[in-house]
Order: sequence, then structure tokens, then C-alpha cells
Amino acid sequence: MTTARTQGFSTTAIHAGQEADPATGAVVPPIYQVSTYKQDGVGGLRGGYEYSRSANPTRTALQECLAALEGGAQGFAFASGLAGQDCVIRSLTVPGDHIVMPTDAYGGTYRYVNSVALPGGIEHTVAPMGDLDAVRAAIRPGQTRLVWVETPSNPLLGIADIAGLAEIAHAAGALVVVDNTFATSYLQQPLALGADVVTHSTTKYAGGHSDVVGGAVVVARELGVAAYADVGERIGFHQNAIGAIAGPFDAWLVLRGLKTLAVRMERHCDNAERVVDFLTGHDAVSQVLYPGLPGHPGHAVAASQMRRFGGMVSFRLRRGEDAAVKACAAVRLWTLGESLGGVESLIEHPGQMTHASVAGTPLEVPGDLVRLSVGIEDAQDLIEDLREALDIHG
Ligand SMILES: *Cc1c(COP(=O)(O)O)cnc(C)c1O
Repeated sequence: MTTARTQGFSTTAIHAGQEADPATGAVVPPIYQVSTYKQDGVGGLRGGYEYSRSANPTRTALQECLAALEGGAQGFAFASGLAGQDCVIRSLTVPGDHIVMPTDAYGGTYRYVNSVALPGGIEHTVAPMGDLDAVRAAIRPGQTRLVWVETPSNPLLGIADIAGLAEIAHAAGALVVVDNTFATSYLQQPLALGADVVTHSTTKYAGGHSDVVGGAVVVARELGVAAYADVGERIGFHQNAIGAIAGPFDAWLVLRGLKTLAVRMERHCDNAERVVDFLTGHDAVSQVLYPGLPGHPGHAVAASQMRRFGGMVSFRLRRGEDAAVKACAAVRLWTLGESLGGVESLIEHPGQMTHASVAGTPLEVPGDLVRLSVGIEDAQDLIEDLREALDIHG
């Protein structure tokens, strides 16, 4: 197996876990659309394959590639990002345990923690991850098992210092889980900064073409808390015991997406920078949230832990929520829709769309906020379309 540490990111993305098929020489791992495997005598498994919930060769290829790209020991592919996060939380907590959650987590993650984990006896405290003292204060030594981090965060593009948080969490006996969906493994390597587990919604940049829903979990080679040395085994056990695995075709689509992740991310970043320039100069816009801006409170940390600043941009409109909602509907080239990370540019109103489920909680987002997933079209076309929408409604 090829490893991430000895070669460049794109070489790993294109080759890790993807040796030519031994039977035919097919250069791309086939879609093993199969549920079960012939045994050579009872228990005589070929390559360890027995039943596709437990293991499937297309999923194995993806899992090896994911682990290599994050520089981790083991990768796991799931049916969705939330299925992967559910598996992480179930594998690492029991009733009575406590999680520190970010103030602006992905809405679905917070809904899970608040409406599924909490009734199951797993408590949480919400803390601003950009403020190390606040996180230290939120940790309950002996009870806190996980510090959950999203950086950049969704939808406010807040930045958290992964290395700083890892130090604080580990000292208190807790692990750090980083949702690396926004940054991607190309722009940010949380495990190298001390995180223990990385999660992704591969639905987003990893897949990259808005044609698949999937999730990934990668476990570090060395865990920051000795008592958790078996995290990889626990997650592997739960992946099979719960069964929310990525199917073969979905695994194949994500694997194909990963091959172009680096080139796509460079273009997403180029276009985002151009869009940020435009928005910063527009009268209707009261604030642009992008970690690449020198005035962003997390800019220095982002510059130290990210290769570039990503393709997600949020902004606020002077004239409030009504203007934000109308601007989202007035664009023509941008697609009004949830999700992010595809080649096509998307626009949305977090307050009424992706983050409607956190209204009335500490994670509620401002009504005048618009979120952009800047795609890889021609930047000038994206800017002209935004200009028209903002000139009328902003
Ligand atoms: C979309 C998303 C998720 C959830 O992933 P699904 O694939 O939709 O289940 C989790 N975290 C972040 C940051 C996301 O954007």
C-alpha cells in the first residue's frame, strides 16, 4: 500500500488503495456490487471478504485512500457524514459522558448531539472553539470524552486552533474530533496537528460533484489519550455492528472525486478569493466572513494550519433578513440549494435552510447571513450574477 507521508497529496489521492485489479488489470477499482463471497471451504475467505456489510473491496479501496490522505492509521466509509459521526460518538462515549461542542457546529451534528445523544444520556456543553480558555472551562475533567471541532466552521467560518485544543483536551483525558469537511484533507491535516479522529461529509468536497451522499472517519496513528489506544477497533466494530456503511457505487464515486480534490480545491480557493474581493467592495454587504481576510479574527491561526482558505464564503447584508432571502432567490447562475463543495456554485440562507434546526438554540445564526459554496465555474460569471442580485435586493 502506498503511504501519504512519502509522496505528494495528488499522487496519494490517485494511487492509495488503488492497485490495478489483480484479476483483470483494470486501472480503477471495480464497483464490487455484491453482498456475499464464495468461501474455499468453511471459513476459507479470499482476501478476508465474507459479507459486504463487514467488508467490500470497493469500500476497502476508498477507506485506504481516505486514511492515506489524512495521514491516519485507519479509514472508514459511511452512508453519510452523520452516519460516520454517529459511529464516532457511539464508539467513544457511554451514558454519563460529556462532549464539548462548538457554538457553530454543522446544524445536523448539533441536532444529533442534542436530540439523539442527549436523551441517550450523553451530555454536552457548547463553547466557542476559537477561545481556548472558554473550552478549558467547558471541559469536565473525568467526564468529558470528546472535544468536537469544526474549522472553518459552518456557516460562520470561525477558526479553531487545532494544536491548542488538542493540548487542552488531552491534558484532561479527552480526545479531539475534527470535522474536516470544509477544509478537506488537501487544505488541512488535523491529525498532524494533534487531533485524534477526523470526520468528513464526503457528500461535499471529497465527492465534489453533488452526486453522492457519504461520510468518512479517519483515526490517528497515535491517540492523545492512552486509554483510547483501541479507538480504531471500536469504530471498526461499530461500523459493522450498526451497519451504516457506504455502498459500493457510492464508495466508487467518492474515490473518483478524491482523485481531483487538489486541483478542484485550488480552483475553489482562487474563485472564493475573487468573490470575497467583490463582496468586500459592495455597499449592500455589511460583513464578509472568510478566514483569508487579514481582519478575520482567526486569520493567523488559519494561515498557520491551512494550505489556503477554502471555497466557503459567508456574508451579511446591511438591509437584514428580507434582503438576504431575496438575494438568494434572485441569482441565476448560482443555484439556490443546501449542501456545498460541488463543482457548481451554491447559495443559501442558513437561518431558514441548513441551520433552521438550530433556531432557538445557542447555535442560532443571524438572519441577514448568506452562505456561498463557490464552485469552479469562471469567477467573472459568478461575480456578475451576484452583482445583479445584490444591486436589486441587497
Ligand atoms: C454536510 C455536513 C455534515 C453531514 O454530512 P451528511 O453527508 O449530510 O450526513 C457534517 N458536517 C459538515 C461540516 C457538513 O457540511
